Amino acid sequence: MNEHEKSSAIKAVSCEICLKEIPKSEAKTAEGSDYVLYYCGLDCYEKWQQDNEKKE
Ligand SMILES: [Zn+2]
Repeated sequence: MNEHEKSSAIKAVSCEICLKEIPKSEAKTAEGSDYVLYYCGLDCYEKWQQDNEKKE
């Protein structure tokens, strides 16, 4: 029985754009100097990148 071990290894995170919960191992990440953002997939990742570029 190593179910407990398994569940602690798979941590869920929320997508920065659509707030969907996804396993951390499957999430796309964007790292800044003092933050890490998670995305459910490339669609949300690209959306965030576009929004970010427009602001600057
Ligand atoms: Zn998403």
